[in-house]
Amino acid sequence: MLKNKVAIVTGSTSGIGLGIARALASHGADIVLNGFGDCSEINEIRTDIERDHSVRVIHDGADMSKPAAVRRLIATTIEKLGRVDILVNNAGIQFTAPVEEFPIEKWDAILAINLSAAFHGIAAAIPSMKDRGWGRIINIASAHGLVGSAHKAAYVAAKHGMVGLTKVVGLETAGSGITVNAVCPGWVRTPLVEKQISDIAAGEHISQQEAAAELLGKKQPSQSFILPEQLGETVAFLCSPAADQITGTALSIDGGWTAQ
Ligand code: NAD
Repeated sequence: MLKNKVAIVTGSTSGIGLGIARALASHGADIVLNGFGDCSEINEIRTDIERDHSVRVIHDGADMSKPAAVRRLIATTIEKLGRVDILVNNAGIQFTAPVEEFPIEKWDAILAINLSAAFHGIAAAIPSMKDRGWGRIINIASAHGLVGSAHKAAYVAAKHGMVGLTKVVGLETAGSGITVNAVCPGWVRTPLVEKQISDIAAGEHISQQEAAAELLGKKQPSQSFILPEQLGETVAFLCSPAADQITGTALSIDGGWTAQ
């Protein structure tokens, strides 16, 4: 379905981004991995995907907190792989604290990586998508793009911003062959959430398993974590012809979290 398409997935050396990169590769897309980590581990991920799916995979370590680096990631992809058809804005970080204690540098970093990077990537990618008359932009927002939670001022503000950005760019590109959508996951058990589980376990002197159950119990009616593979197939669906008329929307994959 995605043969000869080129997909950039930001923050794809771990967690959800890696699940999305694997899914898009399984549908035939060439992949630009992005994100931090151990060089040899990243190279292993890269070669595994190449071998498993017979696609081209490169890694670009651009720092999504730096506007020029984000824009360069798009330009480098076009230079190296000839095009960019799919842009998945997924890189993200988390930090929790009451708003009056929220460190300024954490606020700035979360806004830069979780929101502004998507703006820069989209702005840089759209001209070449318009030239080809086809493009898919998928912004990985969150249930926190639709509802709030205490102690997550920066994250919730950034994710609500991501949903707003999705609507505006969806309108600006409607009818051009480009679609722009947000995906809003509930809890997925990745390193980003593992840290929050560990914080609960340490704070309440309970096991990691009990802390995970508490996390789910508070927000996610399904009482199960969402899998990166499921989000990968959601993104693949948004790249399929069935989704040609889906644009400017926010799709919840959250086990019922935001239905409450
Ligand atoms: P993760 O920590 O497993 O992965 C984050 C990825 O982003 C890694 O590849 C990391 O190297 C990369 N990254 C971090 N800072 C970067 C930077 N400055 N430049 C480039 N890459 C950077 O986290 P995850 O849970 O897979 O989260 C991925 C996205 O999904 C985030 O936007 C997150 O907000 C969102 N999300 C996660 C959950 C969840 O429950 N895990 C729920 C909803 C939304």
